[in-house]
Amino acid sequence: MLRNKVAVVTGGTRGIGLEIVRTFKENHAEVILFGSKEETVNKAIEILKNEGYEVSGYYPNLNNYEEIKNTIDDIIKRYGHIDILVNNAGISANKKIEETTSEDFSKIMNINVNAIFNVTKAVVPYMKKNKGGVILNTSSMVSIYGQPSGVGYPASKFAVNGLTKSLSRELAPFNIRVNAVAPGVTKTDMIATLPEEQIKPIIQSIPMGRIGEPKDVANAFLFLASDMASYVTGNILSVDGAARS
Ligand code: NAD
Repeated sequence: MLRNKVAVVTGGTRGIGLEIVRTFKENHAEVILFGSKEETVNKAIEILKNEGYEVSGYYPNLNNYEEIKNTIDDIIKRYGHIDILVNNAGISANKKIEETTSEDFSKIMNINVNAIFNVTKAVVPYMKKNKGGVILNTSSMVSIYGQPSGVGYPASKFAVNGLTKSLSRELAPFNIRVNAVAPGVTKTDMIATLPEEQIKPIIQSIPMGRIGEPKDVANAFLFLASDMASYVTGNILSVDGAARS
């Protein structure tokens, strides 16, 4: 589904992002993954190599526009174009507001929102030049209903939806589609850190009776990245087993 496409996936070293990279490779894309540090990037490249997939990786500081711009320019020099950008890197929070510092709040907005702005800003001119592209953002089911703690996380994901919907309208005339996927609870390291007493009631509240697998989510990204979704833009696609609260 992605033959001849070049895709950049941020937060591609583990969890949902790693599964997106794997799924895109299975569908014959050229994939460049971004991670937060050299070791984790190399580890992901090694995992994929053992599965028979060649990918390259970078670890720019996602809050430094100049560093990102240089990285994107380098990718363009090596691959010629970027057809798909997946802004997936993210961190979560679950502290009550009294325990949340303003630094905690800024940190989450920096990774979950400002980083999307920075990477997208660096990629869009090349997509315009190439007369098209696809930008996909990882949102969350909490972007629809909020959550009862860790306010920075849902606030950041509401912002992701705002970026998605607004950019879809700004970039539609340039044949650039912008969508987001809003996963429900998905089996990754992010969830592994949650205490058992928090996970159990979550599973009980999911009508499909299970938490999501990274593949459930990656397949939604594959559809939106592909030409199958050629007239789909400005959407927030829920992948949550009907868990809407
Ligand atoms: P994860 O913790 O397994 O992976 C997070 C990824 O983001 C890693 O590749 C990491 O390198 C990258 N990252 C984190 N901080 C970074 C930084 N400062 N600079 C650069 N990269 C950084 O988490 P995951 O569950 O795979 O989450 C991926 C995305 O899915 C996130 O945006 C998250 O909010 C979203 N999401 C996850 C769930 C879930 O239940 N797991 C549910 C809804 C949405």
